Amino acid sequence: MKTSITGYPRIGGLRELKFASEKYFRGEIAVAELEAEAKKIRLYNLSLQKNSGLDFIPSNDFSFYDGVLDTAFLLGAVPKRYTELGLCVLDTYFAAARGYQGEKGDVKALAMKKWFNTNYHYIVPEIDDETEIKLSGTKPFDLFGEALGEGVKTKPVIVGAYTFLKLARYRGKKSAADFAEQTAAAYSELLGKLGELGAEWVQFDEPSLVMDMSAEDTALFCTLYKKILSAKGSVRVLAQTYFGDVRDVYKELSELGFDGIGLDFIEGKKTLGLVKANGFPKGKTLFAGVVNGKNIWRCNYEKAVGILDELKAYADDIVINTSCSLLHVPVTLKNESKLSQNVLKHFAFAEQKLDELGELKKITASEAPCKTAEFEANKALHSEERSGRNDEIRAKVSALTDSDFTRLPAFAEREKIQKERFALPLFPTTTIGSFPQTADVKSARKALRTGGLSAEDYESFIKRKIADCVALQEEIGLDVLVHGEYERNDMVEYFGECLDGFIFTEKAWVQSYGTRCVKPPVIWGDISRAKPMTVKWLVYAQSLTDKPMKGMLTGPVTILNWSFPREDITLKESTLQIALAIREEVLDLEAGGIKIIQVDEAALREKLPLRRADRREDYLDWAIPAFRFVHSGVRAETQIHTHMCYSEFADIIKDIDDMDADVITFEASRSDLTILDVLKENNFRTEVGPGVYDIHSPRVPSKAEIKTAISRMRERIPAEKLWVNPDCGLKTRAEKETVPSLKNLVAAAKEARNEDI
Ligand code: GLN
Ligand code: ZN
Repeated sequence: MKTSITGYPRIGGLRELKFASEKYFRGEIAVAELEAEAKKIRLYNLSLQKNSGLDFIPSNDFSFYDGVLDTAFLLGAVPKRYTELGLCVLDTYFAAARGYQGEKGDVKALAMKKWFNTNYHYIVPEIDDETEIKLSGTKPFDLFGEALGEGVKTKPVIVGAYTFLKLARYRGKKSAADFAEQTAAAYSELLGKLGELGAEWVQFDEPSLVMDMSAEDTALFCTLYKKILSAKGSVRVLAQTYFGDVRDVYKELSELGFDGIGLDFIEGKKTLGLVKANGFPKGKTLFAGVVNGKNIWRCNYEKAVGILDELKAYADDIVINTSCSLLHVPVTLKNESKLSQNVLKHFAFAEQKLDELGELKKITASEAPCKTAEFEANKALHSEERSGRNDEIRAKVSALTDSDFTRLPAFAEREKIQKERFALPLFPTTTIGSFPQTADVKSARKALRTGGLSAEDYESFIKRKIADCVALQEEIGLDVLVHGEYERNDMVEYFGECLDGFIFTEKAWVQSYGTRCVKPPVIWGDISRAKPMTVKWLVYAQSLTDKPMKGMLTGPVTILNWSFPREDITLKESTLQIALAIREEVLDLEAGGIKIIQVDEAALREKLPLRRADRREDYLDWAIPAFRFVHSGVRAETQIHTHMCYSEFADIIKDIDDMDADVITFEASRSDLTILDVLKENNFRTEVGPGVYDIHSPRVPSKAEIKTAISRMRERIPAEKLWVNPDCGLKTRAEKETVPSLKNLVAAAKEARNEDI
């Protein structure tokens, strides 16, 4: 069996691409230097993959920001407002990705959305009635040529036509189907050119096929590929699916003229069943995703080989593949110097997964796979008893009953009590928690780590930052204050570090969007809270002001979803263990005099099953109660906020209301405000703060712009339920943007308030 990967991380083992890009954004380096850094990363990855013996080496999986945005540029689907700025191609691309504010104009970025059920975010292409889709870029050709120059014939990877059209947002009257012909023509031309350059295989990523598909969707998919595949010439085309199974379209996928079909045997709970029930088309290659592309644990060879063995009865040509792109795991274990070998031996990051594929190739080629040294060593590793079991926590979690998941009194009564207690003005203003993590904060944390700063000095430094932040918010005139989260490197890592059961890496970064990366903790054992985690900071912050200070915690579902989870106990069990710990913290904050507590569930939607039919049982039935358990013990007058980093919850709106928070803030400015209609239609009970400006972009929103946003919100949301806030935390922003933005926000809220009364 040959081996393949769906894609590889592009940030570089030490985030070289991030640092180079950010220097470029700040005008510190020229484009040539950025290009050179990018090329260095690509060539390094290429040689690594080549040396590992990987048979199908991807190209065009590199991106300066995002692969979907790359595809939009490749297809010429770029809104005029960006091309009209008159910038060079790369700067036009960055303008679309990040927004542009400068001498050539002032435009917002395109919308950004979560990439299926991951924490990666893609840029949403925008198509209007005038858009003409045609092959307009050369990146896949250039990168194929670059690798060819190194003697490697790669498999170019491109977002497929169906997924591209499904992910785009349509601004006019036309919809996806109206663009099918143009799109198919562009892809055909693309295949033709790749064929001329000598490509043997081309991979089209079609993760949208694992979603629920309507009859129209299937028709669109078939229309596109009948055309594209009829003109493919000598190039072989792989339809690569991932993040689930293709239960709605397996038949069509098999019958169309693809040469290879990539299926996910890790997350696709029905994938194996589909192959068994329907067989696999003769003469085609099955790219079997048996190595988990999303998690960091060593592959279980016994399971992987078991699946491959079963598949042999159905497919005559099998390629061992990762379940999805390795974009979602860290780059390499090589830079981890602190963790013990006993821990590290259980991990496989992208680079190590290349070795695993090599081992699986060797094992499956052997006469007696189970007798190979690699197989036996792997089996021994997986049967080892791991440390970190906590029977007391397990007992507490299993003793939970219904009443632990219900907060009393009910929402309406609490709302009344809280209105009286806080006496906030109409449209209260607040922020999401973090303030800019300025260079001094980062260097203090580093100095603490490396011994240059004592724990006491670090603590006084953080307190000074908190005091400044409180003073700044008072000056700006916000109503509900925050302490700024200076003690946190990251909203999940911080809690992970305070809790027992987590393990931390040093350099295991994963791209989240553009140049932003996260370093998810690893859930290693049972979770418990040894001592309070945030109380001293919050109590101090509250002591500095008469305004309410909002305590800030990360919710259990988000901690789980932004960590690498265990595979030896269920997600539900891990989540409830975390919920128990966060609940203890909530109660300690309340006891310490904190009257408003925000429990962020920024990532609640991330693990929501992509298919409607799987949602309840596989996820919502335990994730929502886990959140309720966190706050069900507080008094009626304590106000519970939550925050979510997106606004696509139209389809789970009741569940969001069922979290039974008192206030929810969420992203709304970057996507259009359609969620407001949904809130209204559903009589959404929880008070809401739909973000009035986009913090992912450095541009400063004007007062008028914010007021317009508030007015639009007012049309749908009862005045007494509306909060005014940015759409996410401010930690990634600079102070110079933050202060004027917040001043405009407060001024806009005041004006709106005066007009409404
Ligand atoms: N409280 C966090 C912050 O303000 C929330 C961040 C997030 O939603 N991603 O940074
Ligand atoms: Zn957020």
